[in-house]
Amino acid sequence: MTDILTVTDLKKYFVVGRSGWPKREPITVKAVDGISFAMAEGETLGLVGESGSGKSTVAYTTVGMYPPTSGSMKFRGQELFQADGKRPLHLKKDIQIVFQDPGSSLNPRRSIKDILEMPLRLHQPGKNRLEQIVHLLDIVDMPPAYMYKYPHMLSGGEKQIIAVARALATDPSLVILDEPTSALDVSVQAKTINLLLRLQREFHLTYLFITHDLSLMRNVAARVAIMYLGKICEIAETADFFQKPLHPYTQMLLSSIPVISEAEEAFKPKKVISTGEIPSPVNIPSGCSFTTRCPFVMDVCREIDPVMVEAGPGHKVRCHLFTQPAPAGRAKGP
Ligand code: SF4
Repeated sequence: MTDILTVTDLKKYFVVGRSGWPKREPITVKAVDGISFAMAEGETLGLVGESGSGKSTVAYTTVGMYPPTSGSMKFRGQELFQADGKRPLHLKKDIQIVFQDPGSSLNPRRSIKDILEMPLRLHQPGKNRLEQIVHLLDIVDMPPAYMYKYPHMLSGGEKQIIAVARALATDPSLVILDEPTSALDVSVQAKTINLLLRLQREFHLTYLFITHDLSLMRNVAARVAIMYLGKICEIAETADFFQKPLHPYTQMLLSSIPVISEAEEAFKPKKVISTGEIPSPVNIPSGCSFTTRCPFVMDVCREIDPVMVEAGPGHKVRCHLFTQPAPAGRAKGP
């Protein structure tokens, strides 16, 4: 399979203020700090992390809402951003996003027809728009009469389905799903996920699925990447990821997933207890950013930021436990 998206050493920093007088040094949040990954055509990559880990910044940078501070993003080999930080129009059409909250992503003053018509007017000119709108509603299993409704007349699940239809209006290849079900009732989450999976099969879509829900990733993603304070700390194929999590942070996340049976509990990794607090994003510790919470922290962790290493086929981890020689009598890893 060829790669549809290749991200290399991507950084996105925000200046959020100035520090004390008289120097007025800029205070910078490194929301995304040198991440690299590639996505194959038609795959689903789950990007998982806590709030503030930078996963939504990756999404917004990929769709062009933020220009990157540095690094490269290539779509089918073509650089996504020009020298002025803008993206060519034909690449905008190929990458679309579904936001977390459909209530705020759909304009309440516009009818569903207007909402679906706008991307068609920009990216699919010259075709019969009414036919296209009916077709878009049809592929997301909505009756044509819905085009005359307004967002406030729809349920949360229906609004999100309209947001999915709007994303598909430009006939994209890559769709960023930014926590698409987290604002929905549990009863409609499964329906929305099933719709997304059917659409992926029918239109050979590639999904970058952003979430904090690891259980969901087990069912929908081919690979999972874990982000912590702007960096990817582990990336692996889903089965490998759940069976053999390597990074202490991943193990901590997986061991805290609630389960309802002893059989499921047996599959979870050994409990890894966080030892401290998540640091402020404006004051990230030197060396490994997980030092304040890691139960396996070593002296080297506070001095040197670990690099990503291959720990198995397609399984990469960023932790000194896999780069330093193991203590005598102990295997590598936590
Ligand atoms: Fe823990 Fe050190 Fe690995 Fe960071 S590098 S996760 S502090 S063991």
